[in-house]
Amino acid sequence: MNKSDLFGFVDEEEGKLREMALSIWENPEPGFKEVRSSKLQRDFLAARGFRVRDVPNVPTAFVAEYGSGRPVLGVLGEYDALPGLSQKVSAVREPRDDSGSGHGCGHNLLGTAGVGAVLALKRALDSEGRAGTIRYYGCPAEELLAGKVAMAKEKVFDDLDACVSWHPASMNVVWGCSFLAMNSMKFRFKGIPAHAAAAPQAGRSALDAVELMNVGANYLREHVSEKARIHYVITNGGMAPNIVPEDAEVWYYVRAPKRAEVRDISARLLKIAQGAALMTETDMKRELVAGCHDVVANQVLGARMHENMVEAGPPRFTPEDRAFARQIAALTTREDKAKVMSTYFAPDRVLDADLCDEIVRVDDKDKVLAGSTDVGDASYIAPFAQITAATWPVGTAAHTWMATAASGSGIGLAAMTFAAKTMAGTVYDLLSDPALLAAVREEFSKTLSGFRYVSPYEE
Ligand SMILES: [Zn+2]
Repeated sequence: MNKSDLFGFVDEEEGKLREMALSIWENPEPGFKEVRSSKLQRDFLAARGFRVRDVPNVPTAFVAEYGSGRPVLGVLGEYDALPGLSQKVSAVREPRDDSGSGHGCGHNLLGTAGVGAVLALKRALDSEGRAGTIRYYGCPAEELLAGKVAMAKEKVFDDLDACVSWHPASMNVVWGCSFLAMNSMKFRFKGIPAHAAAAPQAGRSALDAVELMNVGANYLREHVSEKARIHYVITNGGMAPNIVPEDAEVWYYVRAPKRAEVRDISARLLKIAQGAALMTETDMKRELVAGCHDVVANQVLGARMHENMVEAGPPRFTPEDRAFARQIAALTTREDKAKVMSTYFAPDRVLDADLCDEIVRVDDKDKVLAGSTDVGDASYIAPFAQITAATWPVGTAAHTWMATAASGSGIGLAAMTFAAKTMAGTVYDLLSDPALLAAVREEFSKTLSGFRYVSPYEE
């Protein structure tokens, strides 16, 4: 069997995959609420002969497996939507319905491409009678940076020899870069309520504690590394000015290039919160909402993904896709597109077209993309590589209604097929080329050199 046979298997499934991706797009479900989306995929794979199992404590997660023996190779998928980004396939702002959610990060395509990849791989295993186990991981709540971390805690990635994924964006390229590790934490202060005018001396303000904590955190900024990020919103600041606030809450994200630094800054932030509580005679509780690792991108595996992208050929856009891309692209200035594309380390020439038809190569090995993703936790457990594909017109920012529109259009669907082929081709190479898998694993052991993964929830 050669690669074009394998890619042909993906093409044969394209109609079904498009139906699935559009069905998820039309019924967007935010993180941990993806009941319908996950069921759609798991039922489909079960009907195709995959063994499907639940993941304890993560209701909308599942693992679908086919084949037997080693190697065990995974494709990571997602299907969660974003609140507030409901949008029709239109170049003007037009929410689809009142549900409010929309696939502004293209996860309707992300997971479905993974389903397409494992379907093609199953046929390859069947036709060649080859040993090996392939798995599709249905991973919920990526937008909450929680799904894969919760799944990792259940040890579902532990026996993987390697895994791959992809993520929508507006360029076809391997992501050889890392992402920022992160903690999402809520600090809740409890004070004593009182009439703010008649008896202020009887009150202890939880809001004062929040404000003093924020002052401390803003001084902390000077003493963290340049790439670290600290951001917060006050999620509860009291009820009315004439009541000394009994309850107040502030929600922080702490990000840094490495998990250890996030841990360190988080510990210092906790001291600041304790100090604020001491100053205001309030009580403080911290909740770790989510935490994730930075990403270890396997360069050997990434290079093989690049070769497979080239073999698969770029997404096949239709004239209608190009016309729609032109409309979306016209909404953004070249300058703003350049800002978006620079976050992906894109070469300037990419800005010359509305859709990326090139398989781009960038040297981002030692770079850190200024966002966070829970694939990082999987990447510390098994060798991992990912690509991004031209799912949206060039310069479209993720988490926008324009991204929702493109993710439900022919543009996104074409990118999905391309991503499915690239992932299928790469996993097929790992199945059929033991030397490649050995090189991938050797890089993994060298990079991690004895590092043992600890869940952010158990640090
Ligand atoms: Zn995303």
